Amino acid sequence: MSISKALTIAGSDSGGGAGIQADLKTFQELNVYGMSAITAVTAQNTLGVHGVFPLTADAVVQQIEAIGSDIGADAIKTGMLFNSEIIEAVSEQIKRFNWSKVIVDPVMIAKGGASLLQDEAVEALKNHLLPLALVVTPNIPEAEVLTGLNILNLDDRQTAAKILHSFGVKNVVIKGGHAENEEQLVDLLFDGTEFSYFTSERIHTKNTHGTGCTFAAAITAEIAKGKSIYHSAETAVAFIREAIKEDLKLGQGHGPTNHWA
Ligand code: PLP
Repeated sequence: MSISKALTIAGSDSGGGAGIQADLKTFQELNVYGMSAITAVTAQNTLGVHGVFPLTADAVVQQIEAIGSDIGADAIKTGMLFNSEIIEAVSEQIKRFNWSKVIVDPVMIAKGGASLLQDEAVEALKNHLLPLALVVTPNIPEAEVLTGLNILNLDDRQTAAKILHSFGVKNVVIKGGHAENEEQLVDLLFDGTEFSYFTSERIHTKNTHGTGCTFAAAITAEIAKGKSIYHSAETAVAFIREAIKEDLKLGQGHGPTNHWA
């Protein structure tokens, strides 16, 4: 049996809703063998992030080396990277192993407000990691930080996608879920030439913890299987909708969005 393999380089969410845990569950759901390099441990539940404990860049490098030198990976996803030292070390490893199918979820702030990326690290993300990325998947606030734009409408999102593409990333997916007043959500894909749009009705629920991680992990799984960017994004949009609809209703705060077969 030959199986596609994906590596997530991200933070651990003890509550199981986001981060490494969401990524591995999503890979498994989509029939991809999941591996992880943990960048930081968070003490977290549906009520919020209660502690953040970053690992050293060396600890992150050793985990990646262990995978790259033995099992290998068909696609790589990055999530919470926390600081510029980790970002630069991860970028070096991606180059060293010649990994081209790299999906960057530019995780910055948890829904409860906890910082998952230090301010000093935004430039490192732009300068070191985005030029190596096949796909970047910001939400609207993350796209604003990366581009410096104030994104109010779809036109602004198109402009942001072009700016992000100019940083060297080949495909840009800007997720529409944070456009507060829109009932029709539009997730946008820009491949450097054309825009594609995935439109869906908003699902009203407070249980959306980990949607960003799960969405990017679904794209990564499909890309690991050799699918096109368009197919991967389309599958991820459908996958995350199903997961949000399922609504596991766990915990007292923002419950997890894990897909449940
Ligand atoms: N914790 C970790 C480790 C994450 O990677 C993320 C998101 O990417 C979060 C928490 C935040 O998840 P949410 O904003 O969906 O609550």
